[in-house]
Amino acid sequence: MELILTDFLDRAVMIYGKKEAIVDQDENTHTYQEVNRRVQQLSHGLDSLGVRKGDRVAYLAPNTLEMYEGFYGVFQTGAVMVSLNTRLKPEDYRFILDHSESKVLFVDYELVPLIEPIVEQLETVEHIVVHGRDKEENGMAGYNSWLASFPETPFPRADVKEDDTATLLYTSGTTGNPKGVMLTHRNNYLHALSIQHHLRVSDRDTLIHILPMFHVNGWGSPFYYTANGATQVMQKKVIPEEILEKAKKYEATVMHMAPTVLNGLISKYHELKPPIPETMRLVIAGSAPPKAFVKEIEEEIGWEFYQVYGMTESSPLSTASYISTEEDALKGDEYYEAKAKAGLEVISTKVRVVDETGEEVQRDGKEVGEVIVKGPGVMKGYWKNDEETNRTIQNGWLYTGDMGTIDDRGRVAITDRKKDIIISGGENISSIEVESVFYDHPDIQEAAVIALPHEKWGETPHAIIVQKEGSGLTEEKVIQFSKKKLAHFKCPTSVTFIEELPKTASGKIQKVKLRNLVGEDK
Ligand code: ATP
Ligand code: MG
Repeated sequence: MELILTDFLDRAVMIYGKKEAIVDQDENTHTYQEVNRRVQQLSHGLDSLGVRKGDRVAYLAPNTLEMYEGFYGVFQTGAVMVSLNTRLKPEDYRFILDHSESKVLFVDYELVPLIEPIVEQLETVEHIVVHGRDKEENGMAGYNSWLASFPETPFPRADVKEDDTATLLYTSGTTGNPKGVMLTHRNNYLHALSIQHHLRVSDRDTLIHILPMFHVNGWGSPFYYTANGATQVMQKKVIPEEILEKAKKYEATVMHMAPTVLNGLISKYHELKPPIPETMRLVIAGSAPPKAFVKEIEEEIGWEFYQVYGMTESSPLSTASYISTEEDALKGDEYYEAKAKAGLEVISTKVRVVDETGEEVQRDGKEVGEVIVKGPGVMKGYWKNDEETNRTIQNGWLYTGDMGTIDDRGRVAITDRKKDIIISGGENISSIEVESVFYDHPDIQEAAVIALPHEKWGETPHAIIVQKEGSGLTEEKVIQFSKKKLAHFKCPTSVTFIEELPKTASGKIQKVKLRNLVGEDK
């Protein structure tokens, strides 16, 4: 049997057909059967626009019913879903739409201004359809009337194979230009099965879709929550009060979010002290939160917490910080330390940490190496970039470009990106470790540490600091502060003060830009 993503909705319709599937952005409820009828209409509509197997269909939308049904509507035609980050600049959309050679673009009515400046220049987009609009305007069709004009009869599906590309998702562009990652039906399918197992997803679950479905962070949730007949509540914008209210109202059981959002939610919770929905069982976030934060979530609020690690190229999740019963019994510092790490490899995926010769590093939680990943989640390749594909995947192993450690249980912790590591006098310095020290300084808003060339040491750490208003920090003060907290060789030897750090749409600091900026000065 071929593993095709349309199976997931088929299964939900068959087993959970009359169950509440989607609470849409206007809080209307749709059963799986009802959603499925819209999906058939959408596939007929795509067919009428000339979309055929292998064509690319782009979506620029936050979490809405229309975005959700887009996945299944596109998959039925055998076309490839290109989901766009909603926080990019018009120029970035032009780059991705042209590079992916997308034929049709669906866009949420609120986001139309983002593409208006580039519409005339697009090379391949033939049709634009606007979600949340009734009628055609400025040559862009209105989704509501457009969709309603197609039949709800079952769409004759394209002959799709599991190794066909299902999705083309662009990386965040933290280290350079975004790269188009081709994930097949099989990649997405097996990743979904693995993750649903670890998150213990069932039809008793209600998910609030907080993380954008278009992005690697929220990726896969429209697949595994559907396969299991869970209820999915669409959250268009991140507003902590609203999320807490909806969690209560819809008896949410699980939420995935960015660490900064989780932070906001916890502060709101402390401020408002709203009743915690008793049904909530699990929150999931990427990137390392401090140990104390995990403790607060689990002990004070009572939600189980998972950290996850992954990248677009691995479907995305490779590790999750689930805990064995043996570790669970610890419940002390060791337990929270374990939870604050990236975690253990997920089922079906192998995660190793290797040195430059490709040998595994010691499993002592200390020796740093590159994290490599193997498994069915590893991408087919980068779209139109074989050179980069061959560099990134070797013997089936995906070289993540992330540095980390692994302990005797196989628990991985991410220490830095390979490109960001500083090598001074033969010692490796984790830029993240140095940065985290600065975040303890009351006058420092944000900090980034990069390498500068050094005659004697090869490289030396250089700090870029955003100070809080009216703080009056100096280079000397910053360096002295780090010396109190870090081994001397890790301390920055020079400092640049800056108003704001350059970031990607998902809030990651773009060190390439900082290196260029500081390089010009030095
Ligand atoms: P680009 O590849 O274009 O430079 P990017 O790597 O930021 O951008 P994504 O695929 O969105 O693009 O992000 C994946 C990266 O995010 C990982 O390679 C890793 O560096 C970082 N990351 C993800 N999860 C974690 C985590 N739990 N802890 C630390 N870093 C993480
Ligand atoms: Mg990357």
